[in-house]
Amino acid sequence: MPRIAVVDRERFNPENTGLMINLCPVNRQGTECITRASDGKIYIDEKTCIGCGICVNRDTEKSIAILNLPEELCSRPVHRHGKNGFCLYNLPAPELGKVVGIIGRNSIGKSTALNILAGMLKPNLGNTESEINNEEVMEFFRGNESRKFFEMLKAGSIKVSYKPQQVDLIPKRVSGKVREVLSKLDEKNILDKVVSELDLERVLENDINNVSGGELQRIAIAACVLKKASIYFFDEPTSFLDIKQRIKVSKFIRGLVNQNTGVMVVEHDLVILDYMTDMVYLMYGQEGVYGVVSGIKAARTGINSYLDGYIKEENMRFRDKPIKFIEKTEERKRSKELRVSWEGMKKSLGKFSFSSETGTINKEDVIGILGENGIGKTTFMRLIAGVDKPDAGIINEKVVVSYKPQYIDTNSEETVEEILKDAISKYSTVLINPLGIERLLARKVKHLSGGELQRVAIASCLSKRADLYLLDEPSAYLDIEQRLMVSKILYDFIMHTGTSCIVVDHDLLFLDYFSERLIVFEGKPAIKGEAKGPFEMAMGMNSFLSGLGITFRRDPDSGRPRANKPGSVKDREQKEAGNYYYT
Ligand code: SF4
Repeated sequence: MPRIAVVDRERFNPENTGLMINLCPVNRQGTECITRASDGKIYIDEKTCIGCGICVNRDTEKSIAILNLPEELCSRPVHRHGKNGFCLYNLPAPELGKVVGIIGRNSIGKSTALNILAGMLKPNLGNTESEINNEEVMEFFRGNESRKFFEMLKAGSIKVSYKPQQVDLIPKRVSGKVREVLSKLDEKNILDKVVSELDLERVLENDINNVSGGELQRIAIAACVLKKASIYFFDEPTSFLDIKQRIKVSKFIRGLVNQNTGVMVVEHDLVILDYMTDMVYLMYGQEGVYGVVSGIKAARTGINSYLDGYIKEENMRFRDKPIKFIEKTEERKRSKELRVSWEGMKKSLGKFSFSSETGTINKEDVIGILGENGIGKTTFMRLIAGVDKPDAGIINEKVVVSYKPQYIDTNSEETVEEILKDAISKYSTVLINPLGIERLLARKVKHLSGGELQRVAIASCLSKRADLYLLDEPSAYLDIEQRLMVSKILYDFIMHTGTSCIVVDHDLLFLDYFSERLIVFEGKPAIKGEAKGPFEMAMGMNSFLSGLGITFRRDPDSGRPRANKPGSVKDREQKEAGNYYYT
């Protein structure tokens, strides 16, 4: 079995290098295994390491991984991020005429794979010491679908265009008005059409550093498709978008495909991935250590395999437990103990006006909120939290509220341990451990990734003593497994503590997983918004989905919600019966 030693050098404490050298039994017998390089960093020689695990166990930062990998899958990596760095095994292959998706956890190599295919990163085949030539790369991919792709790319018979994951970095690299930026890229003379389809008219005269996250995402998608290409790569194209925009962008991306054009997409929103793709690749492994790309699957069976944690065709189990969606046929007995009530609230903010119907929140209520961006969801949350007062109407709240905002402060010098203080001992089993925060405790908040920061913010919000927890977009930056884990933790926490929660989110699968009631927002973004409900789940979803013109059914094998293809038999039948949401 090939053995890999991976060290996360950002986390590893260099003061421990000497200790590790002294502890390693191979070093003690006089053979070099753990060494300190001239740059002061620790290095582990995989050829001499015997895999005893002593250094792993003594590493308090949990920054060393020593693993034996299955020979048939991992004989040689496609790429390695430096000596003792992350290893990527195998590559997905784009196809003309198809939307091909990639599904997998954060830090498992999805962006690395896209970067290689898009020609932005040259694969080193695991050789981090010397340059690899193109012939070696071609030989490596002999008999593999990727070879055909690389050959066509080299011959110039296909061109690629790439939308990066981190759209928030764009204003740091590009300046000027949105119209100017996009016009320079318009190789096909389709700017007006793309701008209209992606609803970008309103921001064309704005400076690129003066647009919202959702607008920036759509600008990045526009920039990608304005270029002449045969394969378009989209790395997480729906982050920062609301559900209506996600559906619209999905249709737009699907519309790019024809016999001369293909699309490859990485996406964490499973409903959207399912809706958008024909085929998928699964990626599994260990976060930050190694990632393996599976064979290609039809979208439905691939997503079900992923949830199952088992790839039948490859006899590969990559997760102990399957992720199950249980049909909510039996309603649990709900408490009638009132926590908050409101009636006819109104609030004006500049040109925007918010209003609400009558509503209540009871003890142990788990309520989801659905609605477009800019329609008053945060205004509602702030009124419920008592941060703002309504201009008119009544709000009756005698509760302590804990609030996780949509945007989290990333500049704090404090460590995670300092932020979470008492929560660490009090909630270690219900929050800290399940959210995977233990290994982050020593790190400064400003050094955390988006997903890590989100989990810390969720733990921080839930660990405060409160009767009502308000969470604004807790699924942002989380991968699919983390999203479903967070929804389970949230539900269990609310039931365990006898509290209540309201969650605003745009991932339908995430909300469906734990919500029992729904508040639905209607109106016109930036003009007016009205909060309706809470409704029972089926009624709320029905009301929301009918507004979008989309119907949902449950997958018979996994139980997960799936959007029906527009115009399909199921779609027509459900629309005629007024059942936009499965019951
Ligand atoms: Fe040395 Fe390898 Fe054992 Fe670590 S796992 S102590 S590197 S032999």
